[in-house]
Amino acid sequence: MNNSGVYQKSREEVLEIGKKYKFPEDKLKEFLKPDKVLEVNIPVKLGTELVTFKGYRSQHNNNLGPYKGGLRFHPRVNKDEVMALSLWMSLKTAVVGVPFGGAKGGIAVDPKVLTEKQLENLSREYTRKVFDILGPEKDVPAPDVNTNPKIIDWMADEYIKINQKSKIKNQKLNELYATFTGKSKYGLSGRTEATGFGGVTVLNELVKKLKLNPKKTTIAVMGFGNVGYYFADLASKNGFQVIAVSDSKGGIVKNGQGRYIPLDIPLVFECKNEKGSLAGCYCAGGVCDTRGGQLISNEELLELSVDILVPAALENVINENNMQNIKAKIIIEMANGPITPKAYHYLTEKGVIIVPDILANSGGVAASFIEWEQNMKNKTYKKDVVLKRLEKLMIAAFANVWEESKKNKTDLKEASYLVALKRILKS
Ligand code: NAD
Repeated sequence: MNNSGVYQKSREEVLEIGKKYKFPEDKLKEFLKPDKVLEVNIPVKLGTELVTFKGYRSQHNNNLGPYKGGLRFHPRVNKDEVMALSLWMSLKTAVVGVPFGGAKGGIAVDPKVLTEKQLENLSREYTRKVFDILGPEKDVPAPDVNTNPKIIDWMADEYIKINQKSKIKNQKLNELYATFTGKSKYGLSGRTEATGFGGVTVLNELVKKLKLNPKKTTIAVMGFGNVGYYFADLASKNGFQVIAVSDSKGGIVKNGQGRYIPLDIPLVFECKNEKGSLAGCYCAGGVCDTRGGQLISNEELLELSVDILVPAALENVINENNMQNIKAKIIIEMANGPITPKAYHYLTEKGVIIVPDILANSGGVAASFIEWEQNMKNKTYKKDVVLKRLEKLMIAAFANVWEESKKNKTDLKEASYLVALKRILKS
């Protein structure tokens, strides 16, 4: 999964679509340059050794509101990647229609090898290093790959401590908490499942348009973290047949009478929590039994004969090497950038319907906006209210993109970029 040059590739993609729809080239090029990319050194004591990690924050564009985007902890995090991810955030916030711009950040680290205390020190030190560019009306980070509410709580706590110590301005505590979303303290009820919930809302709208029967529609989900788990769980609760799921160690399917049969997602989740990985769940606790259970690799999962494929892990997993083996007729990009541009063109030509990431996974940032607003207004919204509002935003975003795709006889990705560029460049 070579990820180098991803920013350049994503920039060219947007530029091409922008030019096709005759947006002024100077405005387009200006928009495509990130406003600011901060690179920081983060020293953390690991035992007796002081190790320096690289951290980043790319603030891409704030035409529509404060910079907004997640923080990722992964060994592969680099400047190029955060720049690409921040560009996608600018497009995403515009597609889902929330008053935010786009940003992304992260640390090149494998958090799994750190103790909890080391992880806390790393998170707090990162916050100190990027403190100056954050703020509820400046830049609002959130969780992403390998980051979670606990990490965000440490960061929010550190941010508030520095702010109160420095007495830069007299901002209210609730507003200071609005500097981060995805928190548990002052957080939003429903934020944890928001991205998966948003994706399944889009899935429901799509199957209505295509007149598919959920009960006869099979789904394979790659990635069983925050996004993949909730997507799989809610899709199966909505009647879809989720027949395969996977995490970084591989996936599971269950055979029955010559076909794959739906997995019991809550049971799989329980088992993964107990064993640490889905591979450990092979033939355990009834997730798969000795007759039907099968362990598959992530490569095999992507090539299964399913109706809908849902990559919900990392970038570029569908690429030149495997595009010819993809059998799904619909792909829902719950991860950011899971399909390379070449594979995207190949599959679209073949008639595969691809729901792009900037629409499919925009439920996360839409919920972040609701959390931010809740903090700014010093209110606490109830979960059912949050999910209803989120559903409305997702249905409207899907309808806009669908309409634009029909009007211009184009695919959903091009239509999403068009919706986003119209909003961003008009402002
Ligand atoms: P997460 O860390 O909670 O989960 C990631 C999952 O991917 C884990 O199950 C992990 O085992 C699996 N994984 C890691 N490497 C893999 C590999 N090589 N092959 C297969 N599986 C692998 O992260 P998440 O929050 O679920 O994010 C997943 C994707 O969704 C990312 O692309 C992220 O940018 C995107 N996204 C997340 C949110 C959000 O709200 N969390 C919002 C929008 C987009």
